[in-house]
Amino acid sequence: MSSVSTDHFPRVRIKSRRAQPFFGRHPWVFAGAIQSIDGDPAPGDEVVLAAHDGQFIGKGIFNPHSNIRVRMYAWDETTLLDRELWSRRLDDAIDLRKRLIVHSESSACRIVNSEADGLSGLTVDRYGDWLAVQFTSLALAHRRDDIVGLLKEKLQPRGIWLRTEKGIRDAEGLELDDGLLAGVEPERTMFIEENGVSFGIDLCQGQKTGFYCDQRDNRAAIARYCHGQKVLDLFCYSGGFSLAAVKLGGAKTSLGIDSSATAIELAKANAQLNGVAERTRFEQGAVFETLEKLQQSQERFDVVILDPPKMVRHLKGIDKAIRGYHSLNRLAVDVLRPGGILVTCSCTGHVSREMFAQILADVSQRSHRPIQILEARGAAPDHPVSTYCPESEYLKCFICRVL
Ligand code: SAH
Repeated sequence: MSSVSTDHFPRVRIKSRRAQPFFGRHPWVFAGAIQSIDGDPAPGDEVVLAAHDGQFIGKGIFNPHSNIRVRMYAWDETTLLDRELWSRRLDDAIDLRKRLIVHSESSACRIVNSEADGLSGLTVDRYGDWLAVQFTSLALAHRRDDIVGLLKEKLQPRGIWLRTEKGIRDAEGLELDDGLLAGVEPERTMFIEENGVSFGIDLCQGQKTGFYCDQRDNRAAIARYCHGQKVLDLFCYSGGFSLAAVKLGGAKTSLGIDSSATAIELAKANAQLNGVAERTRFEQGAVFETLEKLQQSQERFDVVILDPPKMVRHLKGIDKAIRGYHSLNRLAVDVLRPGGILVTCSCTGHVSREMFAQILADVSQRSHRPIQILEARGAAPDHPVSTYCPESEYLKCFICRVL
């Protein structure tokens, strides 16, 4: 390949002894690691990342408004950060999902998973014939026309809807609003299938982009433990785990709890849709209070599922998160009959798999209930993890027996 000069790009130099993660291809260059910037890059401009002595490391996109000052997309001088590169990355991403043949088990799947697909700051979910797109970086939001054009070309969706995250204006200096990017608007309730269970979802206003696809395989996995059992599904959202437990697994009954009235309505409708309304109950409530009430009333369950939302966004809140997981799991164990199954999840990226297992060990000691981990699981494979970016592994799901 002919060598391409990168001399005309602004150069971001890394402080001495801080470059190792980037030689290891970590895609996030935080402001604190930067020694100096040669040139005057504007938000969204392509820059070269160099070590303090000028040695080339890779190429990224600059954002002075974000704590992630540069997002890295290439590690050789010849690659240009252009439409062709996004096209190749999208092809790789789509190819993986074709190999997973997710469509045969589910009409909902994640097509692009940000860092893990070499596209830091872009997620794309497919729901039937529609796509939900989220930009969490200014870098790719500035290249929106290219990306939307490529998604149309490659996937031919009936419509593409933009979903925005709450903190993105502060985090990235991005002004984005939800809305239609291409094609026609999706119906406010559309229907998807997952492992033989049907779900109504609202792609435009539902949580996340309408559904938690990352738990797909975990829902199927827990179903195996549910035959004839009495199940408690905490943080149930639209009933994903409850319906898997009852319809796939043959659970006797399931009680789902969520603080969101919309989620409870959706869960009830989903139970009707699947013909299992008489074996499921969904109630609006706060999980901590519900657990305390259940504990006092001596009501016990055979299977308890805990799938709380992310507890902290920043490392400095980590102690609070650990305490939160500890008390939640402690209360869950208290309402579980001896020998029952605890399905416990954490989607807080800063809480590692090891830390989460340690929390369970502490809960086990304090409650004098031995806990055996039967399955240590993660997100479904359409949510891959990048070895270069350990932070891209966020979901932990342990299926345990509690004696
Ligand atoms: N288990 C779900 C996803 C859960 S997402 C599934 O399989 O689809 C987390 C859910 O927790 C959200 O629906 C949110 O409304 C709910 N939630 C957040 N805080 C809560 C609280 N304190 N008590 C009850 N529900 C809560």
